[in-house]
Amino acid sequence: MGNVGAKEVPTLLTPEGLRIDGRRLDELRALKVTAGPLHEADGSAFVEWGANKVMAAVYGPREVHPRHLQENNKAIVQCRYNMAAFSVDERKRPGLDRRSQEISKVIAEAFESVIFAEEYPRTSIDVYIEVLQANAGTRCAGIVAASVALADAGIPMVDLLPAVAVGKIAGRIVLDLKKEEDNFGEADLPMALVPQSGRLVLLQMEGHLNRAELSEALDLGVKGCRQIYDVMKQALRDRYAVRPEGHTGGAA
Ligand code: ADP
Repeated sequence: MGNVGAKEVPTLLTPEGLRIDGRRLDELRALKVTAGPLHEADGSAFVEWGANKVMAAVYGPREVHPRHLQENNKAIVQCRYNMAAFSVDERKRPGLDRRSQEISKVIAEAFESVIFAEEYPRTSIDVYIEVLQANAGTRCAGIVAASVALADAGIPMVDLLPAVAVGKIAGRIVLDLKKEEDNFGEADLPMALVPQSGRLVLLQMEGHLNRAELSEALDLGVKGCRQIYDVMKQALRDRYAVRPEGHTGGAA
């Protein structure tokens, strides 16, 4: 066990303006999205983003459980975000705590605003997000994974939802915080964007930013989301690409 209780703040920016993992201020962590890895689910996606590993599975439209949640004129969107007990170095208490309930709720609301729910009255679209390894930004990684899983399930939506957290460390606005930056930084601002319209469907903030910093952070987040959007679209293209004859690899 390391230095339990020690509150030593690491140096988050070098004199050259680089971050602890060598990234520039506006640089994303490495992002890999795989569409359709689970065969039982109607749609699925696996996201590896920096040290985050997140699986999403989508079921539906299907019968609503419990029945009383059913809506006569549209589908309901239910989301369960869960962090595995082994996903962080300190052992996390297994199960749904207040944090995961809050994250599940804001993610469901983000998707409710892009899914054409009125096409499937009296049904439920169920989104499961399992964080297998966590290193900050997991709600955003969950949204990216769930978006691709929803598209993989053929659920009609306005658009995919790229998402990223922007923040402030050592007085500078940066893209895509990793764990130490989230823990010891001055602000953390996760967001999810509808790329076609530029509409934000999730925006949360922890910490403090002034008006100019907020505006810089939003611009940086939107640029980051557009890069993430390209990776998401490519994952779906790779899954559904028509293979040349004789090609045996690729999606099942
Ligand atoms: P997000 O993962 O969306 O950034 P938070 O800002 O709440 O959400 O969490 C930041 C990071 O803190 C998580 O990604 C995870 O690495 C860590 N973390 C969150 N909850 C716990 C917990 N209960 N135990 C240990 N680490 C946690």
